[in-house]
Amino acid sequence: MPVRPICVAAALLASCATGTAAVAADATAYRAAIDAQIDRQTPDLDALYIDLHTHPELGFQEQRTAALLAARMRKLGFTVTEQVGKTGIVAVYHNGNGPVVMVRTELDALPVEEKTGLAYASRATATGEDGRQTFVAQACGHDTHMAAWIGTATTLIVLKDRWHGTLVFVGQPAEEMVSGAAAMLNDGLFTRFPRPDFGFAAHVQAGLAGTVSVKQGPATSAVDTIQIRFNGVGAHGSMPDKGIDPIVEAAHFVTDVQSVIAREKDPWKFGVVTVGSFHAGTVSNIIPDHADLQLTLRSYDADVRKIINDGVERTARAAAETARAPAPDIRHTFTASPVVNDPALAATTAATLKAALGNDKVTLVPETAPGWTASEDYSELVRAGMPHSVYFGLGGFAQATIDRAQADGKALPVNHSPLFAPDHAPVIRTGIEVLTLAVLGVTGN
Ligand SMILES: [Zn+2]
Ligand SMILES: [Zn+2]
Repeated sequence: MPVRPICVAAALLASCATGTAAVAADATAYRAAIDAQIDRQTPDLDALYIDLHTHPELGFQEQRTAALLAARMRKLGFTVTEQVGKTGIVAVYHNGNGPVVMVRTELDALPVEEKTGLAYASRATATGEDGRQTFVAQACGHDTHMAAWIGTATTLIVLKDRWHGTLVFVGQPAEEMVSGAAAMLNDGLFTRFPRPDFGFAAHVQAGLAGTVSVKQGPATSAVDTIQIRFNGVGAHGSMPDKGIDPIVEAAHFVTDVQSVIAREKDPWKFGVVTVGSFHAGTVSNIIPDHADLQLTLRSYDADVRKIINDGVERTARAAAETARAPAPDIRHTFTASPVVNDPALAATTAATLKAALGNDKVTLVPETAPGWTASEDYSELVRAGMPHSVYFGLGGFAQATIDRAQADGKALPVNHSPLFAPDHAPVIRTGIEVLTLAVLGVTGN
């Protein structure tokens, strides 16, 4: 089989379109070949998923997870480097001349107590960023991504006579802390390893398992993380006039800050302010001297982003002033821009996926339509020099699960809920199909 020339700069997409055309033209055969590999791997990937689900680790603490995945990638023939950006892994596989393609998974879990009731539910605990002990759970479904990532690598190695190029499989730490991508970039992700021409990642979300959403343009929101310490004056619980109560001060802030969303932001534009953490005090009869809040801000437009960031700070200062309290300490911690998918690559990849998986399974969402409200620091990899990239959305729930929830009159739990439990088998299968087809689309013979 002839080896395609390396896809280069300006002509990158055009020259790589041959791969897409080849896969799209013979989509049924490609899907059959991929599915045969998935069938072979299913018991092993199921066991891997359960293992990862039962042993979740917080961001930058993913030692066990990284070691497990690194060992598997080495066994497949990848050259693996560990501890890139603290706990990240980079696995490289050369297969002749062709483009360099990144496939990324997250490695981390969340500080939340799993309440899914599953037989393999996590009871793991760890010390969080704030020094407190916390339960840990894969409440965002990153365990399905890791299993699909291993499955995709395995499938591509078995099918290596059908493509040419270099694979860079990245296991990124601390996605939930919106800082793992930057840590890997600062540790030479794009200088110590082949620089990707193309990049792909996928995230499980709401929707029917087996379906995939391909967004053109902005796919996820921008995130700004803010920590605020409201300073008060400690006193006896029976003598509020002798102190300044930071709990009342912060409580005013929590309700007032929503006016920034309701009254300052353009109502047609997306913007969210959530206070996700509020810690203050020890016992009932002491007025504490401070209250610590953590906020997440989400937006798409730069103007909305500025309005809500400014509004949060102004409202915090005003709450302190109203309470006669010292000024609050406001600290911006993690931030990430929207993930922007290459519109052309999204369209060609969606066409490949439709040909292989069926029209009804794939939705190409146009650039002007809204993306997901959630955020991702995969955006930092794209912005650092990987513009030809697509971030897919995978449906998380089997029809039977959706029907059961409807019959019970309940909404299905969303990502980060302690009840979030996607139907992992079909999610992993679709993840492998989508990522493998996407890679073959830009590297196929
Ligand atoms: Zn998440
Ligand atoms: Zn996630």
